[in-house]
Amino acid sequence: MVAQAEAETDVVIIGGGVIGLSVAWRAAQQGLGVVVADPDPGHGATHAAAGMLTPVAEAAYAEREIFTLGSESLRRYPAFATEVAAASGLPTGFRPGGTLQVAYDADDLALLTETRLLQESLGVYLQQLTARECREAEPMLDPSVRGGLLADGDGSVDPRLLAAALLRAAEAAGAQLVRQSVTEVLCTGGRASAVRLADDHVLAARWVVLAAGWQSAAMPGVPASVVPPVRPVKGQIIRLRSTAAMAAAGLPPGLIRRTVRGLVRGSSVYLVPRDSGELVVGATQEERGPDTTVTAGGMWELLRDARALVPGITELELVDVAAGLRPGTPDNAPLIGPTELAGLVLATGHFRAGVLLAPVTADTVASFLRTGQPDPIWRAFGADRFAARGRAASTPEGALTCR
Ligand SMILES: Cc1cc2nc3c(=O)[nH]c(=O)nc-3n(C[C@H](O)[C@H](O)[C@H](O)COP(=O)(O)OP(=O)(O)OC[C@H]3O[C@@H](n4cnc5c(N)ncnc54)[C@H](O)[C@@H]3O)c2cc1C
Repeated sequence: MVAQAEAETDVVIIGGGVIGLSVAWRAAQQGLGVVVADPDPGHGATHAAAGMLTPVAEAAYAEREIFTLGSESLRRYPAFATEVAAASGLPTGFRPGGTLQVAYDADDLALLTETRLLQESLGVYLQQLTARECREAEPMLDPSVRGGLLADGDGSVDPRLLAAALLRAAEAAGAQLVRQSVTEVLCTGGRASAVRLADDHVLAARWVVLAAGWQSAAMPGVPASVVPPVRPVKGQIIRLRSTAAMAAAGLPPGLIRRTVRGLVRGSSVYLVPRDSGELVVGATQEERGPDTTVTAGGMWELLRDARALVPGITELELVDVAAGLRPGTPDNAPLIGPTELAGLVLATGHFRAGVLLAPVTADTVASFLRTGQPDPIWRAFGADRFAARGRAASTPEGALTCR
């Protein structure tokens, strides 16, 4: 750890969430000098996230480009997780176990059928299960469950473990962490050239990577036309844990073998088991600005729907409740790559899928920082795709000036 870095470094990364830390690790591995500035790394949306790696189960809701990016990132996950664990000596909780999507009543089954048709339009063909086959796959499911779809290739990871492992791996590769907020991006000659820290120290860098999650939209010094249109989307989530008696009775850790995503009378819920015995139940999706209050209503809805699918959850220990703020964008897709402001690179706006998208974001951003060559995979995710809107709002018309 360093209190400050005086000389110019190659890269300063604003934000040490799963995205900033992944980029830091990959960039440091490529031999770049990297400093991450964050007063509380790993404690943004990353701390709340369930860690589902489910581009296939999500395919119906995602646009084709997001699905393709998610599938590519999932393909990289086993190697990514193995490498982070080896480099850090810490676990990541990666599990390749698959996802079972289930429907609770007849109306939910009709919705699940629509989901299947949408998935097939993206070229995703999932195994359709009858009610009995669902219970054979997951014996703790309620007998009311009407049917399901099995996505074998999906997986999950524990984002809290992953963030700790990424930080250790990044530091082992030579990256430095400064536990401070960035208060301003500074420019020299029309190029982002440094950041100012809360204690007024300045870190000079060839590249500034903005990876501050939903707070990326409020970074002083970034020109209006470049400010990423990211907003906070609240998610509440619960962590339960199997008891020793359940383990002794031979029940799987967290009661289920794989992630279960369900529709219960039209409302969505998911249950993600961990090898540790934890079962994560999530998540609400609320447009309430930067509010992280955990509400009784949010908890009630999640537990009500999770219990409808897996009644045994009422016997689990309640270990944690949390609310996090996803970095949402107008088109639900991330903003990755260089901006109109030379030297400033965005890696933000990953909304519901930042944990899933960490490997592909890190690989491509690190490669760009080394070579200056944008990755073709960014075509639909260009950091400048909303720039015209910001430019129209800025004064004087069209000017690109550091504020
Ligand atoms: C309830 C919930 C469930 C989720 N489940 C999943 C899931 O199952 N799978 C999945 O892929 N994704 C999931 N997500 C989404 C995922 O958490 C996000 O997409 C991801 O965490 C975004 O990572 P990030 O690094 O961009 O942002 P964050 O994790 O929010 O990190 C941003 C970091 O920037 C720092 N920061 C902010 N401002 C400054 C500043 N001025 N200076 C320095 N540092 C600053 C913060 O301290 C923070 O550490 C979920 C999110 C929530 C809330």
